[in-house]
Amino acid sequence: MIQIALAALLAAAPMTTATPAAANADTASDMAPIHCDACADWNRDQAPFRILGDTYYVGVHGVSSVLIHTRDGLILLDGDLPQSVPLIVAHIRALGFHVNNVRWILSSHAHFDHAGGIAALQRLSGANVAASTLAAPVLRTGLLPADDPQYDGGKGRGFPPIAHVHATLDGEVIRLGGVAVTAHYTPGHTPGGVTWTWQSCDPWRCRDIVYADSLNAAPVGDFRFDDPSRHPRPADVLRRSIDVVRGLPCDAIVSVHPGFTDVLAKAAANARDPAHNAFVDPNGCRAYADGALAALDAELKKEGAGATR
Ligand SMILES: [Zn+2]
Repeated sequence: MIQIALAALLAAAPMTTATPAAANADTASDMAPIHCDACADWNRDQAPFRILGDTYYVGVHGVSSVLIHTRDGLILLDGDLPQSVPLIVAHIRALGFHVNNVRWILSSHAHFDHAGGIAALQRLSGANVAASTLAAPVLRTGLLPADDPQYDGGKGRGFPPIAHVHATLDGEVIRLGGVAVTAHYTPGHTPGGVTWTWQSCDPWRCRDIVYADSLNAAPVGDFRFDDPSRHPRPADVLRRSIDVVRGLPCDAIVSVHPGFTDVLAKAAANARDPAHNAFVDPNGCRAYADGALAALDAELKKEGAGATR
């Protein structure tokens, strides 16, 4: 079990505001826990591990956070819950790296369980944060927009606002230290969702890694994926994103919730048999897309709309 003292965490923070005391108070409030039914289980500690090459899992038990080590610093994908931040920082350190060297934090989608820790991680690292053009303003306010399936009439759960967010275009590439990470817009679960891809290389070969956004139709309140008053129809938006993920170059997939693509089971298999990397699976993206499409069909049936095709 990794324990990290709050004081030690704050002592490592770059001084980005007028006084160190103010910076520490802001970071501490950005790490104030968010409570939800699943949160305690999601935030159970999870020892970090290598996925492939220079790509590592540094998230918690039920929400992913992925670290890419480049020769010019670190890229982090997602910040999980606010209360996940001390664990993520400790995981980065356990791998021999330091949060101060995180240059970019890339966001998958603007929900509290993936973006909740980003504000504190940005304060601790001074990193740039990138999200889609639709998600960037959501991250800056921490408030869900009315077209988010979990908006719930304004009752949807927000998260700590993030000071500076770079709005990334569909297909835009974030480059650092010889690594190129590409944004693929995958709206549907949220209006501004992004799936990120890059190549992880070792001396022998390069492999395509997909950090896959949520593709599940998870409405709250009276939001309907078959709502004919919404243009385009939310189900059509999500189906297009499922096709995007299905078609990506994909040697290995890591989903934003590890359970969606058996991330922790693959890590356990790698620990048992290091000679064969269980993350290498050319069918991983197709299987994830197939599951998402079946779930969307089930949701539409529930909404009384029948099958999608
Ligand atoms: Zn979500």
